[in-house]
Amino acid sequence: MWSENREVQDGDLVIVWLTREFIQPLQVTAGKLFNSKFGSYRHDDLIGLPYGSKVASSHGRGFIHVLRPTPELWTMALPHRTQILYLADIAFITSWLNIRSGSNVIEAGTGSGSFSHSTARTIGSSGHLWSYEFHEARALKARQEFAEHGMSNVTLTHRNVCRDGFTIVDAADAVFLDLPAPWEAVQHAKSALRKDQTTRICCFSPCMEQVLRTVNVLNEHGFTEITMYETLMRPHEVSQIPSLKSVRQVGEELKDMAVRREERRLRQIASSAASRAKRKREGTGDESDPGEMQEDVSLKRVKTGEGEDGKTSNTRVGAEIRKHSDDHDVGSVDVGGSNSIVGGSGSGRYLNVSRVFPEVRGHTSYLTFACLIPFPPDAILRNSTE
Ligand code: SAM
Repeated sequence: MWSENREVQDGDLVIVWLTREFIQPLQVTAGKLFNSKFGSYRHDDLIGLPYGSKVASSHGRGFIHVLRPTPELWTMALPHRTQILYLADIAFITSWLNIRSGSNVIEAGTGSGSFSHSTARTIGSSGHLWSYEFHEARALKARQEFAEHGMSNVTLTHRNVCRDGFTIVDAADAVFLDLPAPWEAVQHAKSALRKDQTTRICCFSPCMEQVLRTVNVLNEHGFTEITMYETLMRPHEVSQIPSLKSVRQVGEELKDMAVRREERRLRQIASSAASRAKRKREGTGDESDPGEMQEDVSLKRVKTGEGEDGKTSNTRVGAEIRKHSDDHDVGSVDVGGSNSIVGGSGSGRYLNVSRVFPEVRGHTSYLTFACLIPFPPDAILRNSTE
């Protein structure tokens, strides 16, 4: 998948990281210009740079990072044609479905291909992904992307899996259904799953009514170990402080850090305002320095306590502080204020500490998992009564 060169080459697909919220794919083409609100960049200037380089814009005001694509970055940057799966869910599904190198996997629908990219990498060249999409334009676009990204272990079929089922029988190790009515595809999934070993299925549904319908149908078709999960993200803020003698001192140090950070923030705001005023006085007419805008995005988040998902987060130093020394939890201390928890690890002269934000990211969907064991339960029952 993708280029394995150390340096960017003409024709490479790269991921351009502008800010945490603004990441996009770019096909590097000699002679072209990449324009963004953070400045202009000549593709020619990117060619030959090592992947991971930070590049200043032509006018030196903004900057970008040029990254080698990975499924994780692709999920963050891809053009959305549908709702997509994000990394927390993808990782959990991959683990629960026991998807690994050499696995044969079915997914429906393909959508924007977010799940497909991660799965294609996990299964490698010895595995295979059969992906199904009934929306023709999406199927064509995804097929083109998979080919461009060198995903030769993926077969994309344009079809309605609820009506017509899958193209393989007794061959899949795992099935993942991200469909509006997954229960309509469960019987087809059963016939596609191999019967010589335990196999697994996951259905991704946003509401509980859909989960209940899926659970009923899974039961009817002899699936077992039916379990539902919801993946929620809880942000941590990680900092490094000099190694301290006592847990209470960690708390004091963290409070000082918060005060110093706030002072730094106010100084940065004052200096940004001063340079904007200076440019205005000098009549450049360009008050919005793109470089500053990139800074301002993070300043705004600190100031308003706004999380990545737009929700308000608690940026105060937390109530309970946990200090870990050499990765052993050695206690906790109340430093007052909120209900955040601070944890840490490290050794030597510095201690890594993290503050856990109390709120969690919003609901995406419920994950309903189930297993299909080689012998149907009714056969086992029959055997045991004979
Ligand atoms: N998991 C995908 C990803 O990570 O990018 C997103 C899937 S999207 C939410 C659901 C897709 O299922 C849509 O593209 C839709 O067209 C497709 N779909 C819905 N019903 C289908 C069916 N019966 N057969 C095949 N595809 C279907």
